[in-house]
Amino acid sequence: MTAKPIVVQVVLDKPLAQGFDYLWDIEKLGIEPALGQIVELPFGRSKAIGIVIKVSTHSDFEIEKLKSVERVAPLPPLDPPLLSLMNFASQYYLHSLGETILPTIPLMWKKAGDWEKIPKILASAEKRRAKEKAIISEGLITQEQLNASQRDALQSLVSKQDRKTFRAILLQGQTGSGKTAVYLNWLESILKQEQAQVLILVPEINLTPQLERRIHAYFPDRRMAVLHSGVSEKQRGLAWYEALTGKAQIILGTRLAVLTPIPNLSAIVVDEEHDTSYKQQEGTRYSARDLAIWRAHDQHIPILLSSATPSLETWMAAQAGRYEYIRLDQRAQGASLPSVHLINTRDPQSQFSPGDSGAPIQRSLITKTLAHAISKTLDQKKQCLILINRRGYTPVLNCTACNWLSKCTQCSAYTVMHKAGALGRRPVLSCHHCGLVKPIPSFCPDCGNADLKALGHGTQKMEDAIEEMWPQARVLRVDTDSSRKSKGAEALFQEIHDGNVDVVVGTQMIAKGHDYQNIGLVAVLDADSRLYSADFRAAERLFAQLVQVAGRAGRSGTNGEKGGEIYIETQYPESPVFQFLLRHDVDGFLRFTASEREEAGLPPYSYQALIHAEAKSLDKAIQFLNELKSKLKARTLITKALRVYDPVPKPVMRVAGSERAQLLIESTNRKALQETLEIVDQELRQDSQGRISNRSRVRWLIERDPIAI
Ligand code: ADP
Ligand code: ZN
Ligand code: ZN
Repeated sequence: MTAKPIVVQVVLDKPLAQGFDYLWDIEKLGIEPALGQIVELPFGRSKAIGIVIKVSTHSDFEIEKLKSVERVAPLPPLDPPLLSLMNFASQYYLHSLGETILPTIPLMWKKAGDWEKIPKILASAEKRRAKEKAIISEGLITQEQLNASQRDALQSLVSKQDRKTFRAILLQGQTGSGKTAVYLNWLESILKQEQAQVLILVPEINLTPQLERRIHAYFPDRRMAVLHSGVSEKQRGLAWYEALTGKAQIILGTRLAVLTPIPNLSAIVVDEEHDTSYKQQEGTRYSARDLAIWRAHDQHIPILLSSATPSLETWMAAQAGRYEYIRLDQRAQGASLPSVHLINTRDPQSQFSPGDSGAPIQRSLITKTLAHAISKTLDQKKQCLILINRRGYTPVLNCTACNWLSKCTQCSAYTVMHKAGALGRRPVLSCHHCGLVKPIPSFCPDCGNADLKALGHGTQKMEDAIEEMWPQARVLRVDTDSSRKSKGAEALFQEIHDGNVDVVVGTQMIAKGHDYQNIGLVAVLDADSRLYSADFRAAERLFAQLVQVAGRAGRSGTNGEKGGEIYIETQYPESPVFQFLLRHDVDGFLRFTASEREEAGLPPYSYQALIHAEAKSLDKAIQFLNELKSKLKARTLITKALRVYDPVPKPVMRVAGSERAQLLIESTNRKALQETLEIVDQELRQDSQGRISNRSRVRWLIERDPIAI
């Protein structure tokens, strides 16, 4: 009697809910099948890479017709806890398991043709490692050097240390209060456990060579695997391998690193946990922070979330006692906080009058007040940092006479302008929350003024104005364009550090992470357009950014010297964002925001999902979503606790020849939302090939917990 054939179920990087059965020939493959193995197999007329998710002797298909696995990657299988994390992510974010796992595996391990060469590659990498020079310690603050509040923080982290228990801890403290020093010392104590591995997640922008060296300095004898979009494919492949095999004890990476196989994972740190770069905006649209928390919980290990301006979700969990709460309230190097100045751009006093000496030739939005402050800073031989974000956005309409803003009449969001042709023949105002569409008023509904403008216009001009007003100053522009053109962002930052620059004009890239020692003034010129927007999280984000910026300004004020100055130009100085910022009151702002959200029933007091649709024309996309909404209505799934709004065009509507719309689903009940989304997924899949609808060729996607609406 012959032994029963072995059947393995394999998932592929395809939007298909099911796995595929293949035969496994132990003799030919030379290895037993195991869950989590990476394999090559015939698929259609070509070959594909898959992951083994089930081993049995049974198939629902005729065994004789099954094809066979051809090759197995020379790797230990992905560990079971990682597979359960992937399973969770796949279910929660409504993407197939294969689509969730395979994109996380570096290319090197998905090119079966290269598998034979791998032992050689590993050996030569090992040789190169041995030749690496020791890292010169940089920014190393040992346990003995910690100040009193850092010591207390470390103490409460270490004292409750217990193997195999889940803990979530929020470490909150202003920029420069020494949070990084605390968590690195904590991780050091964890790494003393045998074989322990730790994961440090940082936002994309913060993973600089400086930070890498600084972390290395704490752990001179440990091996570190670095995973982010800037490392080469081969380096990423090696780093991933070292994590999987336990060779690397420290895994440092950006959001994707949360899905790295780390079999002896013993602690996780999420630095700047509020940062929006933790949210993946393509493919499986996961939140790396949320997955990290799930992973820590599932694996019974501690996770520390660090931030100066925690996300509302995290802060509320800490306030409610669901997370441990550790605060650091002084700045580690004794620098004082910067003073914040609000410049009311409506106030004639702050403006240049015609004929003023030093007035700019072209009308600009730089006020007289700010111009004086910049000139003074330059005289003191200090640097100025000027922040402008110019990314595409759809603007809120505003009355230049009475401050009226185009608020939605149906809900708590702002309506934004869409150009003619987008939602009708004429330009309109639309609400991205509830879907309301209204014509653009010719007069202000409050005061009758006819001069209505889009908020935040003219940012381009500001940059020219700066160069015009200070022609002698050495101006450097730092944004994604300029860093791509030159030797990269690092080279630009170095110029600033070296003092070769007087005025830095840049996007939020310059606001994060870096320690600049000679910044005397920070100016924020386009705060309003980011304060009032279609997205209800706009204020929370702006506040976090301004606090970060204030941190940059304050660092120069060491040894009791005065901290820097921060100037914000706004038409709305009375807005809570600015008022709480004036007082450096992070908790006050979060408390205020929480009560606002509660009143409006917005997250974290409700849960949301978006259904995205992309088609040749906007009409098709909207119609597709309307049909979906009708189906949900017909199945009586729309209730008081589960609301489905009207479809709207997306903030950036047209991308590469197709037009995009979205539908918002909102519920106070997480489970009800999940169940409905699973139904939506099934409904849509029935009439689709993958995620493209058969009839109207609409490409659709479900997104859980969107961060931009
Ligand atoms: P955060 O992570 O809160 O922004 P860091 O840990 O990066 O703060 O510390 C900010 C700066 O202060 C760094 O340059 C760091 O080297 C320094 N620093 C941190 N702790 C101390 C300390 N106890 N004594 C002196 N300098 C410190
Ligand atoms: Zn008005
Ligand atoms: Zn609305």
